[in-house]
Amino acid sequence: MARVVIENLGKTFKGPKGEAISAVNNLNLTVEDREFLVLVGPSGCGKTTTLRLIAGLDEISTGNISIDGRVINTVPPKDRDLAMVFQTFALYPHMTAYENMAFGLQVRKLPKKEIGQRVREAAEMLDIKDCLNRLPEALSGGQRQRVALGRAIVRKPKVFLFDEPLSNLDAPMRLQMRKELHKLHTQLGSTMIFVTHDQSEAMALGDRIAVMKQGVLQQVDQPATIYNQPANLFVANFIGSPAINIFQGRILRDAQGLSFQFDTAQDITLNLDRALEDRLQTRIGKEVILAIRPEHISYATPASGANTNWIVSATIELAESMGAETYLYAKLGATSFTVRTAAASSASPGQSANFLFDLHHAHFFDPNTGMVIL
Ligand code: ATP
Repeated sequence: MARVVIENLGKTFKGPKGEAISAVNNLNLTVEDREFLVLVGPSGCGKTTTLRLIAGLDEISTGNISIDGRVINTVPPKDRDLAMVFQTFALYPHMTAYENMAFGLQVRKLPKKEIGQRVREAAEMLDIKDCLNRLPEALSGGQRQRVALGRAIVRKPKVFLFDEPLSNLDAPMRLQMRKELHKLHTQLGSTMIFVTHDQSEAMALGDRIAVMKQGVLQQVDQPATIYNQPANLFVANFIGSPAINIFQGRILRDAQGLSFQFDTAQDITLNLDRALEDRLQTRIGKEVILAIRPEHISYATPASGANTNWIVSATIELAESMGAETYLYAKLGATSFTVRTAAASSASPGQSANFLFDLHHAHFFDPNTGMVIL
């Protein structure tokens, strides 16, 4: 069992001029037993600090961290039963892979036989049996990362903490290690907390994802929920590639009902259907932000039929073929947007085309608070 409960956690650092830097602000988060939780957010949002507070490498300013009901705020790092894997791998350069993996167990005075057994088991799991006698300098980046993982695994900790462990690997190796981490998580059945600034890594790895911004937790949920039901504009914008399209506009009312008018193309309005009217009733005459993912805008065809209210004519600026799909970059007034289409496109820059905006998959946000309008 290893359930990590973080309550009202805060960390304030002192800046160079004595000013307070709030790195983590009133964080409440529970990581369930055996869960793979990914903490994600842009640089400086407080992910690493959160991990370091859990590991005991920094002292907490406010709040509590407990594991399985035991508050660990003041427990020394070595007694927390956690293992941390760093971005830099942090291997001892003068020790072989075997010695690097065995070191922590030797310090804990485990019998030699058991150490050997645990190292061999981990090496088997990570497919680095043939590398055990080599120094780190004679290992590839991927192999070094495996040794760093092995060093954590042999300790059989309650909780694994990963601080951007894949970011020093090249792209193919990163993908490979992602798969292996998945496998490892299933095999070990341990609780894992993984920090990254890469949203696609978060989406691929997390049972749940916690999105942070400026020390504040924005949303925590399963990847699909974060993607499809973002709680605010920041989350909508941070998660997903290509990024979600954002249009500023306002809700109008006329004889036909409610519609969304684009700020930068005021002659274009999208008539809202009943369900959207109900949601946006309170926003009549007010500014709102319409956010729609690139895959929810498509070429309008005669089959678009019933949704002709949601067709917009825009100018294509660029078509980028990605093989299986094409990204179209288009412009509506002064606002650029991206369309992700499966079809190969013969569109040429400057050409105008009709696009269907599938508003059933669109999100509306309050421009002042950034919060989703429900
Ligand atoms: P990155 O992805 O760049 O590692 P992060 O999300 O992990 O960023 P943190 O390293 O946790 O962010 O930093 C959060 C904030 O706290 C930042 O503003 C950072 O400058 C500040 N900070 C972190 N450590 C210290 C420190 N030891 N002293 C002062 N400020 C710090």
